Amino acid sequence: MQLEAMYQEVILDHYRNPLHKGLREPYEGEAHHVNPTCGDEVTLRVHLDGDGQDATVADVSYDAMGCSISQASASVMSDLIIGKSVKEAMAVQEEFLALMQSRGREAEPDEDVLEDAVAFAGVSKYPARIKCALLAWMAWKDATARALGEAS
Ligand code: ZN
Repeated sequence: MQLEAMYQEVILDHYRNPLHKGLREPYEGEAHHVNPTCGDEVTLRVHLDGDGQDATVADVSYDAMGCSISQASASVMSDLIIGKSVKEAMAVQEEFLALMQSRGREAEPDEDVLEDAVAFAGVSKYPARIKCALLAWMAWKDATARALGEAS
C-alpha cells in the first residue's frame, strides 16, 4: 500500500533524525516510563510557561531507547506539542490515543490535529506495538501532571 509505505518512511525518518532529543533544563516535571514487552524506555521532561491548563508547553525533552516506533513517536510527539497550550496538547494526546485504540478499524485520523502522528495509524493494527507508540505520550501526560502539581 502506497499510504503505508509513506507512513513507514515518516516513522523511519523521525527514528533516524529525532527532533528535540536530549534532556534539557529547566523543567518542572519528569517521568520515566518503560514498556517491558518490547524493552523500550523513555525519560521525559516537561517545561511549562505559565500555570494550569493555559500554560504553554515551552519544551519537551527526552532520552529514549528501544524500537524505532517508540523512538519515532517521542520525536513526533515533542515536535507536535511544543508551543501548544497544555489544554491543546491534551486534546492532541486524546486524538492519538483514540487512533491507537482504533485497531486499524475505521481509523480516520484528523491530519490537521495529528500531523506526522497519523503515520502511526498502521501501528494500531498490531496490539503488541501500540504500547511502543504510546510510551512517550503517556510519559508526557505523567510529567505534565507532575509539572502542574496534580500528581504525588
Ligand atoms: Zn517498542
